[in-house]
Amino acid sequence: MPSKSAVCEVSVVLPAHNEARGIGRAVQVLSSILEGVAASHEIIVVDDGSRDQTFETAAALCAHNPQLRVLSLSRNFGKEAALLAGLTAASGRAVITMDADLQHPPALIPVFLTHWRNGAKVVHGVKEDRQTDSLPQRLRARVFNALLTRLGGFNCSNCSDYKLLDREVVDILTTRMPERNRLYRGLASWVGFRQEFVGFVVAERLDGASSFSLKALMALATTALVSFSTIPLRIVTFLGALTLLLGVGVAGEAFWSWSHDRAVSGFMTLIMTLLIIGSCIMISLGIIGEYVGRIYEELKARPVFLVERRAGFEE
Ligand code: UDP
Ligand code: MG
Repeated sequence: MPSKSAVCEVSVVLPAHNEARGIGRAVQVLSSILEGVAASHEIIVVDDGSRDQTFETAAALCAHNPQLRVLSLSRNFGKEAALLAGLTAASGRAVITMDADLQHPPALIPVFLTHWRNGAKVVHGVKEDRQTDSLPQRLRARVFNALLTRLGGFNCSNCSDYKLLDREVVDILTTRMPERNRLYRGLASWVGFRQEFVGFVVAERLDGASSFSLKALMALATTALVSFSTIPLRIVTFLGALTLLLGVGVAGEAFWSWSHDRAVSGFMTLIMTLLIIGSCIMISLGIIGEYVGRIYEELKARPVFLVERRAGFEE
C-alpha cells in the first residue's frame, strides 16, 4: 500500500462509481470546508470500477490539489469494498466516509469533528428526512432498518454510511475484522466505544444516477441479516416445531375419527399438508444455504478489493 508517512488530522473517503460528472465539485466543496476546520487533511477518492472517466477526472485534479489521492479498483467491487479500500488507504487520525454525490451534506463535517475532539470514537450520520426518496424506497428502508435493529441487535435505525471514525476504530475495521461479507454501518456500530449520532437531511443528487438496484439492496439486506444474526436459523427450528405440532394435531384428529368408526378422509388436506411442509423445508434449506454460502466465501479468503491504479499518493 502507499506510504503513510504523511499522517494528517482528517481523511475523507469518497467511494465513487460512475461519478465523473460530480467528482470535481465534491472535491472542491470538501477542500474548502476542510481547510477551515482541520489542521491537515486528505481526500481519498475510490473509483469503484467506474465505466465513465471517474478515475481520469479525479486524477487530473491531483496536479492542483496536493491533498487529493485517487485509487482505482480493478473492477466494480461494490460500495462496501470501496469503503474498505478507502479506509485502508487513509492516514488520518480521524476518517470521514461519505457519498461522492454530495447527498451527505459536507456542512456537517465540523459537527462530526467537534464530537470527535470531545472524545467520540464513532460519529454516525443519521438520516432524519427522506424527502428525496420515493414512497417504495422509504418503505423498503423502514423494513430494512426494523429487521436490522430487531435481528442484528445494533442500535442505528436510519443510519447511513456518512460517518466519522477515530484512527483506533479504523485500525480495528481494516485489520481485525477481515470478513468478506461486510456491512459498514453495522460493523462501525458493532465495535462499541463512545458513539455519537448526528441527524441530517439527505440532499438531492445533483449529477448522475443512483447505482443501487433493488437486487443490490436485497443482497445488502441479506448480508446484514446473515452476518449479524443467527436468528433466521432459530426461526427454522421454530418452523419445524410448528409443523410438528400441526402434524400431531392432525394425527390426533385422524385417531379420533378412526376410534369413532368414521372414515379418515381428507385427500385435499393431505395434498395441502404436503405442499406446506414441502415449502417449509425448502425455505429452511434456503436459509441454511445462505449461511453455508457465506461460510464458503469466508473460507476462500479472497481479498475484498483489488487496487489497479493510484494517483496523488507518495510512493
Ligand atoms: N458507489 C460505489 N460503488 C457501487 C455503488 C455506489 O462506490 O457499486 C458509491 C456511489 O458512487 C456514491 C455512493 O456509493 O458515492 C452511494 O451510491 P448512490 O448514490 O448510487 O446510492 P444512493 O444515494 O441511491 O443510496
Ligand atoms: Mg446517492
